[in-house]
Amino acid sequence: MSDSEQAVLRIRPHHGLCIQFFRGEGYSESFTAGMNSVAGRLSRGCEVELTCEADCICAACPNNLGGRCLSGPKVRTYDQRVLALCGLASGQTMAWSEFAGQVRRSVIDSGRLGDVCGDCEWAYICHASGLNTNQAVGISDEGCILS
Ligand code: SF4
Repeated sequence: MSDSEQAVLRIRPHHGLCIQFFRGEGYSESFTAGMNSVAGRLSRGCEVELTCEADCICAACPNNLGGRCLSGPKVRTYDQRVLALCGLASGQTMAWSEFAGQVRRSVIDSGRLGDVCGDCEWAYICHASGLNTNQAVGISDEGCILS
């Protein structure tokens, strides 16, 4: 069974942000294809398990060297910031819509996006959305992403 077919997708907390602002850009063609695949899986509804290790998105990333991210300390910090702001912990399992909604309220709508990952090389995409989640790609009014 492939990762995208699993009932529970393991996902890094900060990827709860990346997915919400994903516009088809990424590190490589295979990475973008992987993001599209994960986004499609999430849009159909599934459980996610929060992890601060390599996840379903890292699986197709050229920066993933055998499960070790080349940006390790930086992305771990992003993960910890998302967990702290959302009041969540690594290892927790919940519906994707619940996690995405929590990220939306606690990070995006509260204006904390820059505090979490303002130095990310892709931040210009998210900030171009003006931190207005209603304008961010793939976000519905219900807080369930990619509907
Ligand atoms: S840069 Fe690191 S955390 Fe981000 S998708 Fe690639 S391997 Fe995963």
